[in-house]
Amino acid sequence: MRSVWTLLFLNILGRCWDIWGFPQRCKPGSYFQGQCRTPEEKPKCTDIMLTYCKDMPYSTTMYPNLLEQKSRNEAEQSVEYLLLNVVNSLLNGECSPYILMLGCSIIAPRCENHKILKPCRSTCESVHKACDRMFERIGMAWPYFLDCDRFFVSEEEGCYDPLEGLREEEPEMDNLSIEESSSTIQFMYHSNTQMFNILNKTAQECSHISRTYSIGQSFERKDLLVIEFSSNPGEHELLKPEVKYIGNMHGNEVMGRELLIYLAQYLCTEYLLGNTRIQTLINTTRIHILPSMNPDGFELALSEMNRGSDSNHDEDIIYTGYTAGHYNAQNIDLNRNFPDLTSFVYDQRRLKYFRNDHIHIPDSYWLGKVAPETYAVMKWIRSIPFVLSASFHGGELVVSYPYDLSKHPQNMFSPTPDEQVFRQLARTYAYAHSTMSSQDTDRCGGKYADKEGIVNGAQWYNKIGGMGDFNYLHTNCFEITVELGCDKFPAEDDLSTGWLENKEALLTFLESVHRGIKGIVKDEDGHGIKGATVSIRGNRHFITTAENGDYWRLLTPGTHIVIASAPGYSKVMKRVHLPAHMQKAGRVDFVLKKVPLEPEINELNILHLGSYERFDPYNLLAQYYTRETRQNVEERQEKPWWWPYFTQLGNQNPSWLLRN
Ligand SMILES: [Zn+2]
Repeated sequence: MRSVWTLLFLNILGRCWDIWGFPQRCKPGSYFQGQCRTPEEKPKCTDIMLTYCKDMPYSTTMYPNLLEQKSRNEAEQSVEYLLLNVVNSLLNGECSPYILMLGCSIIAPRCENHKILKPCRSTCESVHKACDRMFERIGMAWPYFLDCDRFFVSEEEGCYDPLEGLREEEPEMDNLSIEESSSTIQFMYHSNTQMFNILNKTAQECSHISRTYSIGQSFERKDLLVIEFSSNPGEHELLKPEVKYIGNMHGNEVMGRELLIYLAQYLCTEYLLGNTRIQTLINTTRIHILPSMNPDGFELALSEMNRGSDSNHDEDIIYTGYTAGHYNAQNIDLNRNFPDLTSFVYDQRRLKYFRNDHIHIPDSYWLGKVAPETYAVMKWIRSIPFVLSASFHGGELVVSYPYDLSKHPQNMFSPTPDEQVFRQLARTYAYAHSTMSSQDTDRCGGKYADKEGIVNGAQWYNKIGGMGDFNYLHTNCFEITVELGCDKFPAEDDLSTGWLENKEALLTFLESVHRGIKGIVKDEDGHGIKGATVSIRGNRHFITTAENGDYWRLLTPGTHIVIASAPGYSKVMKRVHLPAHMQKAGRVDFVLKKVPLEPEINELNILHLGSYERFDPYNLLAQYYTRETRQNVEERQEKPWWWPYFTQLGNQNPSWLLRN
């Protein structure tokens, strides 16, 4: 960055030299004001004399130039010329010298026989194509004066190629600045910074189907960065289901984190290469990937691992490498830190009208220690109508599913009303994994071989405050927990094997969101009803509709009675039959008639729903986050770091450099 300032200083110095030291034909002042020519004087070709345009394949130009700048001096004072001066440094040497020469062809256009020649549109277009991404990366708009349609002309109109000289040396214009693709998967561990870079680069590379966003920060203020894939990134689309993958909740369980980074790169590359399976997936599904929920823990685990491999104490290595970084930086186990709604369900389940969905967070929860990572994920889960999710861990090879909290004091099978749906989801992953469901009992996860690699969470490992139970009991989302292998921090050499073992499972599981039924619950005028419920007879777990009345209900094959209702509307019931092998969710819409609002019999659930919106009532964390958000917004509203270069030399406001 310093070199940019040096350049700028030299540039200013150069201007002083021009103004005071250059032998001028005109009286001082008149040249500067563009009054050097008498009105009757015909414009002529003149030597270029602009330092940054000295390497053009021609030597004469003419004023006014294509930007209507009347003199060399006016051109030199312009922001457009200043941009050419610093563009090489700004873009880190990328796209050099192409941008410079393209710019010079406008600021100092070729002059022959007292006429300006215009540069070729085709040259402009190929440079634009190759270099636009670099501009995007530094948050700068493509400069208006390099608008290919506006300032450049076709060959039929007699254009010339401003990169002519370069072409002789470097005929492969097509390879221009196509830097090494960020989509090349490298089977290595990525530091937090490397991970952020890869995710951002991938999203830029696939900007039409991807973006990154942060859901909040860890205790040590690292972003919890999500990469999203969708044909319309950033927006929920009617009837398009949303899925999420979360990795590295336990900082020392690292395989999932790496797999999710590779998955993001894979989705981007394959989409661009025209892989129809991936294109269909992304066009029909909104996918959110959070590779690391615990970047602080990961950092600690990584440093312990590196320290361990430098020492000779094998036992120490195993001990510290296995446990350090498991928790977040406050020493909180994030998978025990979610509100315990399951105990509430166990207490209330015998009540007649009890529903086990959208259970509110008890106020007492907020009096405990809530990790910022947990907080961020809870807000995220509540803000997007997720249908399906998987959280990736390590230490076993098995898929577990809710409930995670046992109904009994010890580990014991504790099914949800959706036991069959969860089994189906868990099997989807385990079967598509290369070894997880194998019958071999000697392998990692061998004790679940007879269960085909899936297990009820409470039966496996009883835990309170887990994320899976929270997803199920507080939102519409069904989440499974995937244990990726016995080694929590495997050797780097094992990462490519891990990818091969899991790749198909990762894709198949995403695709499995297109099962069961989906549709819209509308009123008689055709307007979607938000917050209507869709239930299955015999199942107390209701699903609620999203903003525009759309819903998704994962179901197993067979016949189901589906009931839609909303306060102030009549109930509507439909019988649906789902075949054994469904490729996509069946569409079942409902039209509800308005009826006089009757007093609800289900008082318990009114209580529930009434307080569902109550999130963070003591406002402690909200204040913390509001402050954070405000800072982020302010930062975003601030101009990019390069902005002062272009504004400090007077009252210019080159807002055309800003992307909107
Ligand atoms: Zn874990």
